[in-house]
Amino acid sequence: MRHLVCALVVAASACTAVQRSTTEQVVAAALISDKQEMDLGFQVHEDLKTKNTKFLENPDVGIYVEGLVNKIVPQAKADRAGVNWQYFVIDDPKTVNAFATPGGRIYVYTGLLLAAENEAEVIGVLGHELGHVVARHSARQLVAAKGLETVAAMALGQKPSEVGQLAAGLIGQGAIMAYGRDMELEADTYGAKYSNTAGYDPRGLVTFFEKLKAKGEVPELLTFLSTHPSNTERIEKLNALIVANAYNSKELGGAGLKAIQAKIPKK
Ligand SMILES: [Zn+2]
Repeated sequence: MRHLVCALVVAASACTAVQRSTTEQVVAAALISDKQEMDLGFQVHEDLKTKNTKFLENPDVGIYVEGLVNKIVPQAKADRAGVNWQYFVIDDPKTVNAFATPGGRIYVYTGLLLAAENEAEVIGVLGHELGHVVARHSARQLVAAKGLETVAAMALGQKPSEVGQLAAGLIGQGAIMAYGRDMELEADTYGAKYSNTAGYDPRGLVTFFEKLKAKGEVPELLTFLSTHPSNTERIEKLNALIVANAYNSKELGGAGLKAIQAKIPKK
């Protein structure tokens, strides 16, 4: 096993971004179990509660968001089985953001739902977040932060519980969710693909980034303490991806979102 991991790492240094991502996902899956990811997600959720995160209680909004996620979650399940997908709406109209935690918990701020023009934009964002989980970005961050040798030695050694402790130590700093530029761009590709397959215009993410860019906002969207790719770079990459894959779904779903926006507290 140890040799397998090393061979994978050596191979990873001389291959394309897609191949490297695939290799890193295989390594991460071998070292961090679904159960360990779920435990980490639970810890983050407890941490959010101690920080007085206000969750929106309105069932209409919760059901609406769950309905949107359910339009794309079958694709995520096909890409990665064994994830217990859960959704939460955070009551904070001033924050335009969303994030995912290990194990499949997706958090959406009401500020994002209010800022979106249509459902295609929200679906694009949700697809981006599912993509972080599907592509095992947290586990890959853990390996990147602590070194493959350290994580592999623990995971393959006598005390696999040490991996959980190691990861827990990084949660406080947000380190295992502080995805790098490449991971953010990779998550964008999931957002566009999942949107398109669900029948929604994959340009939803593009128009959302264009809106942020026009406002001159720092692209903190869809990140959790991440190193951000610029909005311009994300827009260019997404447009190229949409053309290359001939994505042509058109649904925008404006009316459904407008009805829900009316039910969201504005302050
Ligand atoms: Zn992201």
